[in-house]
Amino acid sequence: MANKIDRSDFFGRTPLIAGNWKMYKTIAEAKEFAKEFKSIYKGDNDVKVAICAPFTQLQALVEEFKGTDIGVGAQNVHFADEGAYTGEISLSMLMEIGVDYIIIGHSERRQYFNETDESINNKLKHIFWDSEIVPILCVGENLEEREAGKASEIVKFQLEKDLQDLTAEKVATMVIAYEPIWAIGTGKTATPEQAGEMCTLIRNTVAEIYDSETASRITIQYGGSVKPENASEIMNMTDVDGALVGGASLAPKTFLQIVEF
Ligand code: 13P
Repeated sequence: MANKIDRSDFFGRTPLIAGNWKMYKTIAEAKEFAKEFKSIYKGDNDVKVAICAPFTQLQALVEEFKGTDIGVGAQNVHFADEGAYTGEISLSMLMEIGVDYIIIGHSERRQYFNETDESINNKLKHIFWDSEIVPILCVGENLEEREAGKASEIVKFQLEKDLQDLTAEKVATMVIAYEPIWAIGTGKTATPEQAGEMCTLIRNTVAEIYDSETASRITIQYGGSVKPENASEIMNMTDVDGALVGGASLAPKTFLQIVEF
């Protein structure tokens, strides 16, 4: 295992800037990105950096980023150890590659692949019980829910379901990303106040479910049209500990500008 991240690192709430490449890039393109990004990334600011890529690029990225502090993450995992699940990827397969993070419950998975809070909860349990990989759990409301004034209710509901039966000790070391669906890939960013408010709500909900110490330790990111132009404003909000970056993580120079917010 080549993991660079020790879960205990996560007690410090150092901002985590993670790219989510979604279904973009071939292996050759991923290597090209990694070579360029390594050559321009100085790693001298106090953030953790990672790229969450499609499964086929993970091995190449782990190799390319060996000897650096740039982490690598997957975008999904199955909740069973192994079995007849055509097209799925297991935790031990990802552990063998040596990924540091796994995104769980991204809204695109909930929307297009019928992921439920129950399957998300099973995936989180599996990751926590059987590996040291850091999960990045995504929660967030859609436009209709926001306009109906239900954003907080929806996010609280998701957290209660998704974190069910997870211990405070484990939850303190995970990452939660607030990703309002209306801000993903739309160019419509949440205002820094909206992002900050919802990240505070997430921290308060963790305090309600667990305790204030767990809430003060957990890393909470914002995601949704983060760009070099809005990164610092968002990152400066009290409860925002980093960003999950889609489109703007595909080009090394743009991603670097966000990393160096
Ligand atoms: P965009 O940054 O492209 O809006 O995507 C956000 C996202 O979904 C990250 O997981």
